[in-house]
Amino acid sequence: MQLVTPLLVTLAAFAGSAHAVNFTGDVLNGVPVISFLDLANVPSQAISRYYLRVGELNGGAALHIPVMVARGTPESLEIGKKLSLSAAIHGDELNGVRVIQRIFEQLKGLVGTLNGTVISIPTVNPIGIYLNQRNYFTAGASGFLINVNRVFPGEIPPEGGNGAELLAYNIWNNIWGNKSQVDVGIDLHTPSSGGETSLWCYADFRLPYVERLAKLLQPDTLKIDVGEPGSIETTFVDNSIPAITVEMGQAKVWNVSLIDRVYDYVNRVLDDLLIIPSSSNSTTVYQPDLSKSYIVTTFHDTYATYGGFVEQLVTVDEPVTKGQPIANIRNAFGDILETILSPESGRMFQSPRDPSIEPGGSAGEIAYNSTDPECADGCIF
Ligand SMILES: [Zn+2]
Repeated sequence: MQLVTPLLVTLAAFAGSAHAVNFTGDVLNGVPVISFLDLANVPSQAISRYYLRVGELNGGAALHIPVMVARGTPESLEIGKKLSLSAAIHGDELNGVRVIQRIFEQLKGLVGTLNGTVISIPTVNPIGIYLNQRNYFTAGASGFLINVNRVFPGEIPPEGGNGAELLAYNIWNNIWGNKSQVDVGIDLHTPSSGGETSLWCYADFRLPYVERLAKLLQPDTLKIDVGEPGSIETTFVDNSIPAITVEMGQAKVWNVSLIDRVYDYVNRVLDDLLIIPSSSNSTTVYQPDLSKSYIVTTFHDTYATYGGFVEQLVTVDEPVTKGQPIANIRNAFGDILETILSPESGRMFQSPRDPSIEPGGSAGEIAYNSTDPECADGCIF
């Protein structure tokens, strides 16, 4: 059984000599190391685990990322859909890791009849996780922190790509097959450390199926949004692959109730894509319950003028009116330096969880529907 394939020509080309980076055949912690995921060579009706070799760190230590694939019946690779699940591209955003683990625990019992393929990367950014923070650390010139979710589809080193860009390049080309191995993408995040929301998503409604993908989440907030260049979501969407970014509550926790909700969501998507046809009646199209979802086009952030401590006056998802006090900024003695007012009527969307704040730090972000027609596809102020 062949588990690995030769290096792509493109990957070999930048190596200088093929043997220098051809680690095909390595085994790490009992898991085969691959340089390219070729779904045709992944066993059908099975869950397979791999490490993808994504390059080296400063000094040469090898870097790998884990990949799990659930391939269904042999014919379903052609006739079924291929779903990508990814998590922890920001190293402090960990709820999605557990969602993927639980989905794959579930798929063990279903993979024999699965009508399609699920490809997952539970930890996209192992360097960020190691450093217990958001970004990828690249060591050149004393070091830079790089947001990996702004550098997709990546770049190879001979063209100037750094470590983060090489990581993105390897994922885009050597797991997702330069879009050929993905039909729909879900990228799992949480807000950055220090902030708190409920369950929400970014969705670019301009591409068909994205709206359906977002509404199946039954989120607390659904942000219609044109996306961020270089993000996983927007890179998929730019390549006509429906995708959304799911944001789950808070960084650096495993929030069981949100993990449960997103686990159920992924199951609704698997059902909608007919990868796992509903056991009850697969001819019935699921109607999402959006009775508690706030669907908005616009976010408006507020910023502290002074460093100090932020005292929240409004909780996440609470309605606000324009001009309503939403936070106080206090100094170390407890004096109020300023009171932050809501810039719009809407809902408190994201609130500081960390009380310490610096000048320019977010004192609370409001979600609402702008009347400006230019915001119909989404705005962030
Ligand atoms: Zn994130």
